Amino acid sequence: MLVNLSDVLTSEGMEMAREISLEMTCYDNGTESFEIASKSPISLTVTNAGEDKAVLRGCADISFRGACDRCLTEVPVALKLDFERTILSPEAWGEEADDFGFMDGFSLDVETLVHDEILLNWPAKILCKDDCKGICPVCGQNLNERECGCDTFVPDPRMAVIQDIFKKNKEV
Ligand SMILES: [Zn+2]
Ligand SMILES: [Zn+2]
Repeated sequence: MLVNLSDVLTSEGMEMAREISLEMTCYDNGTESFEIASKSPISLTVTNAGEDKAVLRGCADISFRGACDRCLTEVPVALKLDFERTILSPEAWGEEADDFGFMDGFSLDVETLVHDEILLNWPAKILCKDDCKGICPVCGQNLNERECGCDTFVPDPRMAVIQDIFKKNKEV
């Protein structure tokens, strides 16, 4: 959805408020994709803040289907987006042009803006619980459910390699 901001960027004292439904059905961070379980419309307010300048405020609640980084159990990731950005008319961009990737000329690309905000607010770790024990690197048992009794200190050397790869991918 593109929202034309030319009036609010050029008319002193002008404010516009909109509720916009989000089209996105998943969030893709480049390596993983997370399906959206529920989403509110985004509330946007754009207020003129002088010549070629406006303040954009937005909020939305979005919940994703995530998986625990340690045991892979499905865990919801609920994000409460609440942000404020100063935006400029395209003529005033200069070197900051790269900061306005969510604008297409005078139009605001709502989906790109929300994608940026999800990226900024994404949790560093997704855990089903703080003390999640993860899965056994030898047999794959979810250790929150039961102890499997494997000797994890001297794993099969082939499994140790897999364990390292698993850690590299998941223990960010
Ligand atoms: Zn877990
Ligand atoms: Zn085991």
